[in-house]
Amino acid sequence: MANKCEKLVNEKKRAGEQTLGALYSEGKVRRRREWRGFKDTMYDFSRWLYIWSIMIDTSMGKGFVKGLFRYRWMVNYLAVPHMMDKFTIGLRDEALRMTHVAMNYVAKDIALTVKRCLRGDRRCGNDTKLSDQTVLVDENSMAAFMMGFPTLKPLQREVPTMFAANLINQYSAIHYIDVAQQFGMPGDVCPMPETEAGISIEDDLVVMGRCAVQVNTTCDGSLMGNGLIAKRLEREYGIPTFQLVAPMRHRMEDVQKYAAEDMKAAIAFIEETTGAKWDWKAYFEAAKRVNLTTRNRLEWLDINATPYPQFVGAVFCLYNDTNYMGNSGRSTVFPKMDAKIMKLVHQGYERKAMMAPEYRHRCVVWGVQPQYVIDMLYWMMQCWGVVPLTDMLSMVIKKEIAEEDTPENREQAYYDMAYLTENMIMRNHTHGGVETMVDELWEACEQMNADMVMLWEHMACKALEGMHGQFEEQARKRGINLVWVSHDLCDPRVASRQAIRDQFNQYMRTVMREEPLDPTIEVITDNNAW
Ligand code: SF4
Repeated sequence: MANKCEKLVNEKKRAGEQTLGALYSEGKVRRRREWRGFKDTMYDFSRWLYIWSIMIDTSMGKGFVKGLFRYRWMVNYLAVPHMMDKFTIGLRDEALRMTHVAMNYVAKDIALTVKRCLRGDRRCGNDTKLSDQTVLVDENSMAAFMMGFPTLKPLQREVPTMFAANLINQYSAIHYIDVAQQFGMPGDVCPMPETEAGISIEDDLVVMGRCAVQVNTTCDGSLMGNGLIAKRLEREYGIPTFQLVAPMRHRMEDVQKYAAEDMKAAIAFIEETTGAKWDWKAYFEAAKRVNLTTRNRLEWLDINATPYPQFVGAVFCLYNDTNYMGNSGRSTVFPKMDAKIMKLVHQGYERKAMMAPEYRHRCVVWGVQPQYVIDMLYWMMQCWGVVPLTDMLSMVIKKEIAEEDTPENREQAYYDMAYLTENMIMRNHTHGGVETMVDELWEACEQMNADMVMLWEHMACKALEGMHGQFEEQARKRGINLVWVSHDLCDPRVASRQAIRDQFNQYMRTVMREEPLDPTIEVITDNNAW
């Protein structure tokens, strides 16, 4: 086991730029690209061009031009190449490459969603064949109930309109938050479901699909938003909507039968509304890929628990999020991506590669991160030598599901799909009580040999807020350095990027009594940046 407080100094001097402050300007984009030495700069630039090729390909899709003029959120996509730079600050060698492999695929997946949205949208491409094959799945739902429908396509309309848009442009959500509040919604609700509700109120979601399934994913705000969206779907657009009600006390044995029955009902609803038949062969193939994902994620976590973590940061979370939740074993491409990343992870680990000049603290990141400051975890590493070993959203399931097609496993499969849904990202920790939210944090600290916790305090997330005192008290007892960082998820007007970094700066200076590794990025002038 690593010594938790042992400082590690990178013996290999980073090629290219030694300090990063010179890259930032007060404008929308950076002053220039980061110099990483010839080889890595060329590699990074080629990936930058690749992102443009994905965007050009998307723009050639049916309905794109109409969509560009119809939907306000489309304009955010011009800033995708800039978004990629937020994931790679200070990175070289394997870390740079695995970030690009993972994020390029996430970008491709989102581009495909945009393409499908505009092609099938009744107002743009109006491809009725595609629309009839589509099942709308709400953004925060695990697509497990689609694992046995290979001929249907699950579509998360909110991903390009709300979630990904806010990764790309920090101001993407504010118009819709204002729309929801003008409609009468309270201002203290979580801005994620509030934005989604605002988009629906303004009728800015694409209209397509044979049916829709919504999941009571997370919280009161999410339920409120879904209710409103479902009304519009059903009453205005005639798209029948099923409410999958995953239990809140999801660790209790007595709720599992109910959860499995609800899963059966959701599948029956999809069969009835689309005419498609559940395919067990496809389901068990997907189950094998879900298990592969689980094994790979656990192996990456094992490596991150050593003194030389490799696959970390927002990319770790987003890649797992897309693979585990959005994909749910349906895609045959993800295993290939996993294999590429695994090779780089092993390579980096064997040569003891480090991502910053020095590692001073090993940190577990808990809570829900603000999308508009997606580069925070890399910044912590480069500015203060604090390594983000893992985050709450990446700590999903640990056990594997049944993957052989037998009569018993066909029954078990409903329990497994319910298990996946109950344990999906965010919900598995924000629901289920103090054990899931607080106790599992200390388990993660133990597992990852962490001496520090950065707690994202999303101020509208009541589940997390309610346990503030317990986190404080227990961290003190365990001798864990606990940094609170408040934010408002996708509304930078409440807590700007620098206001967020300042909370971390203040803790490091006053409590830890440390000086930054790179003082040129302690304050970054990126308030106007995308
Ligand atoms: S961040 Fe919290 S409040 Fe927002 S959707 Fe998730 S659980 Fe709900």
